[in-house]
Amino acid sequence: MAPILEVKNLCKSFGDFALEEVSFSLEPGYIMGFIGPNGAGKSTIIKLILNLLRKDRGDIKVFGLDHVKNEQEIKNRIGFVFDENYYYEELTVSEMKRIIAPFYSNWNDKIFKHYMKKFSLPPKRKIKDLSKGMKMKFSLAVALSHNAELLIMDEPTSGLDPIIRDELLEILGEFIQDENKGVFFSTHITSDLDKIADYITFINEGKIVFSSPKEELWDRYVLVKGEKDLLDADIKKYFIGIRENRFGFTGLAFDKENMARKLKGRTVLEKPTLEDIMLYFSGREENV
Ligand code: ADP
Ligand code: MG
Repeated sequence: MAPILEVKNLCKSFGDFALEEVSFSLEPGYIMGFIGPNGAGKSTIIKLILNLLRKDRGDIKVFGLDHVKNEQEIKNRIGFVFDENYYYEELTVSEMKRIIAPFYSNWNDKIFKHYMKKFSLPPKRKIKDLSKGMKMKFSLAVALSHNAELLIMDEPTSGLDPIIRDELLEILGEFIQDENKGVFFSTHITSDLDKIADYITFINEGKIVFSSPKEELWDRYVLVKGEKDLLDADIKKYFIGIRENRFGFTGLAFDKENMARKLKGRTVLEKPTLEDIMLYFSGREENV
């Protein structure tokens, strides 16, 4: 089956920032977490996919279709949730819904009402008077009410409490039960993805560091803790980043097997979290 989302050699520059040859793809049936520190280029890529920004170079295909030539069809089949509010603040929830619904050929009012109820959304309240969590839920209700095959979400959980975040993760889990669908989910709150993502694409300073099945990351990278005198030049070259403290060091290293052999019995080897991986790769481990 064709990838549900395919980005190839995508380039875009804004003067002092550039996306360089960004490539990754998402197969149907999976959730891809898109991680990277603030300013890495996540929102820019999402805007490029949705043709809200013009690319300099590269190819983007959604459902196997070119994202510019087939923009209308693609948007009809995508549900999106953004961190920023893109609705008319002065309208009520149900007025806004009446404006949005006709844009979608598969709009299903029954499903929308189901989510309004499930999320306890007040139909008569103005958008501007909704809390941040309610706005996200309204976006999500819209995204889920037109039979979308791909959900694209830009930091949907930022600023939300853990209960709402868990509810969202549960809904995404249900959504993906249908193996023809996909979820592309950007966040810098990586703990959400430890739970649900199948694939992780990591971007740093406009470049893709890796895009791979989450489980493979645990084979590839290891968190090493030990005493500082172990860190000779030979050992150091296996590290992506090292943080030293009074008691010793903690570092993220390549090649778990090799580390285990070389440092047998002299260190503690742990499974890194996605946050560890992100922080060490982006050189921000000193802020841990
Ligand atoms: P992220 O979503 O990963 O936090 P963004 O994609 O929003 O990162 O931003 C990446 C970089 O591009 C930042 O340095 C940001 O300032 C810059 N940028 C984003 N949009 C524009 C724009 N329209 N004009 C100029 N610079 C931009
Ligand atoms: Mg962003």
